[in-house]
Amino acid sequence: MADTPSRVFVPTAVEADGKAIGMGCFSSEETAWQVLRTFLKKSELMNLKSASIVIWEIDIVGDDAMTVLSTIECKTCPVCKRNTFWLDLSQFSALCHGVSCAAWVEESTVEPGIIDCGWPAIQFLKQTSSIKEAFKELYKLGDRLTAAGQTEQIAGTAEGLLGEFQNS
Ligand SMILES: [Zn+2]
Repeated sequence: MADTPSRVFVPTAVEADGKAIGMGCFSSEETAWQVLRTFLKKSELMNLKSASIVIWEIDIVGDDAMTVLSTIECKTCPVCKRNTFWLDLSQFSALCHGVSCAAWVEESTVEPGIIDCGWPAIQFLKQTSSIKEAFKELYKLGDRLTAAGQTEQIAGTAEGLLGEFQNS
């Protein structure tokens, strides 16, 4: 059994009532993230509060066997208003996993202290000086979508909004 991994990566989602949803255990971090991300796409249909990936060492007893790799929290997306916006608080980044949204906020890798945010559907991209400002930008975008009364058809709205933004 030379191929037996010495550690496994375990993605878990936690519902609002505290119930954990297991997704299996995997021999690589990459696969664990893939499984978790696929699951999170459906998170608007569930009432989730957080999700995590934990590394478990094989054949080790007790707390030492376990390392929390990442914990993310579920929020309402500022743009599409669905329950699909996932925040990673340890290395600040946030991404909406909802279908045809993918709004995001992230600390700039090029300029420390600068917070980038964006919405791929209309190639919206903005640099701000704080996380709060970045969220404000996304909320503004979401409000315009709501005002347009087309939040149910975000993808279809994208082109019209793009024109609107270019003109403003
Ligand atoms: Zn969204």
